[in-house]
Amino acid sequence: MRLILGDQLNGSHSWFQEYDSECIYVMLELSQEQYYVKHHKQKIAAFFLAMRDFCRVLKSDGHHVSYWTLEETQHWSNLKAALSQIIEEHGIEHFEYQRPDEYRLIEQLRGLKFDQVTVTEVDTEHFLLPFDEISLAYTNYQGKQMEYFYRDMRKKYQVLIDEQGKPQGGKWNFDKNNRGHLKSAKNQELISNPLLFNNSAQDIYTLLDKLAVPCFGEALSPLIWPINRSQAQTLLAHFCRENLPYFGQFQDAMLTQHKSKWSLFHSRLSFAINVKLLHPMEVIDAVVTAGQHNPNIDIAQVEGFVRQILGWREYVRMIYWALMPEYGRRNSLHSHRPLPGYFWHGKTKMQCVKQSISQSLDYAYAHHIQRLMIIGNWSLLTGLDSQEVEQWYLGVYVDALEWVEMPNTKGMALFADNATIATKPYASSGAYINKMSDYCKHCHYKVKESISEQACPFNSLYWHFIDRNQAVFRDNHRMKMMYHQWDKKEAELKQALLDKAERLLSDIEDL
Ligand code: FAD
Ligand code: SF4
Repeated sequence: MRLILGDQLNGSHSWFQEYDSECIYVMLELSQEQYYVKHHKQKIAAFFLAMRDFCRVLKSDGHHVSYWTLEETQHWSNLKAALSQIIEEHGIEHFEYQRPDEYRLIEQLRGLKFDQVTVTEVDTEHFLLPFDEISLAYTNYQGKQMEYFYRDMRKKYQVLIDEQGKPQGGKWNFDKNNRGHLKSAKNQELISNPLLFNNSAQDIYTLLDKLAVPCFGEALSPLIWPINRSQAQTLLAHFCRENLPYFGQFQDAMLTQHKSKWSLFHSRLSFAINVKLLHPMEVIDAVVTAGQHNPNIDIAQVEGFVRQILGWREYVRMIYWALMPEYGRRNSLHSHRPLPGYFWHGKTKMQCVKQSISQSLDYAYAHHIQRLMIIGNWSLLTGLDSQEVEQWYLGVYVDALEWVEMPNTKGMALFADNATIATKPYASSGAYINKMSDYCKHCHYKVKESISEQACPFNSLYWHFIDRNQAVFRDNHRMKMMYHQWDKKEAELKQALLDKAERLLSDIEDL
């Protein structure tokens, strides 16, 4: 018996290369997976539809698959109960599973014991940093920026490396070229329509209602996310053709008015990659090849994308596995303020927060800068409870799995991991948001003001954050400038900013 989890839809895995009439594959839609956190409806639908389609493909290839829908698994309290019964019914002698990507599941699977059944754990054959090398890699890169890890991965896999062993384009990093905004009509003309799929999800939503599964977000049907390999490959090709030419340049930009404002030039491939419909190297190869063949795609766009997959994605996984389970308990800025209600309905006068949360609820998706510099920044400045924020991120996004969500939220956005991922907090006032978006132009608040009645809340809260965390950041050389600016302010102004921020915090639900 071989167990296939919902994020293990890798048809190229060596398991499937040979047909074995003695082997039964088991796929389960389990209640335990719906209850460990409250999920977005589209996230559940995307996982179930992708699993069902993967089962169809395996069956059509002649494999024996036992698939159980959420309705059919209701009588099992958990994974162990389900597997025990299937083992007994089929007289299973050997059980294999692919190593889960989440700590909670690896603990559960490694703890399972069945009488007279041998158990083997195998690799998922997906990631580029082998699991067995994580511990050593963590030791080597501990205390260093992600950049060093990324350069070594480029060398190891010979990605964007020239014949002399030097980085193509003469530089490792083109981040400076990648800070364009989309405020001008000319730039907005470059934005194309996102490729959306037409996957019927109504049956899943009906099932969730019927079983009263706790969930939230818009029940969008048809489901627009890719649910099989063919759709995932189509989305990858679409990205390389339509969006890659501008990906890096505008990867930090945000908009309020455009009909494709929620997707812009982003690939929206994260769900397909995380459930392993696509291999990360296949995605990198496609992007590098597109860069070689299309003269409109320069190295800055290709490098900007490769960095995310070969760098950040592998790096955050390394941190997660090197430090779990202790990592999960970290809350180094001691943040405990409850999550405001607008995280669940998006109704706030702050245009940037409203846009970012609303689109998360509408599409189970927000792009990186919305996650980091709007919702994450707001959570950081206001000191929202790190566990509550992490649970929200883990539930809301279609691509959210703990190994990637936790280091990004806890480490990058909330600076709650004791400076393991980020060397300085991603905290900003309204000025950064105003530079990268047109949100402020359409906001109730005034981005250039800090203390007045209608002043942008990010402004005074930024200084409040700087002031209240002096013990943590004052000696950080990357924060020197911020403390210099704070120290230079008149005592009266400082007090006015802190008082304003205190008033905002006590009114946080009504902003
Ligand atoms: P693109 O902008 O097109 O980027 C291409 C790909 O690069 C992504 O598909 C993804 O595979 C990879 N990537 C980019 N940035 C990162 C990163 N920081 N870490 C890991 N991979 C990255 N990503 C998830 O896959 N799941 C999550 O649960 C998740 N939670 C996040 C929470 C926070 C607070 C932040 C700041 C980031 C989070 N990310 C997460 C990373 C990133 O925001 C998403 O991968 C990206 O927005 C997905 O959209 P896309 O496919 O259009 O990405
Ligand atoms: Fe956000 Fe402030 Fe700009 Fe409003 S003015 S959109 S609250 S940054």
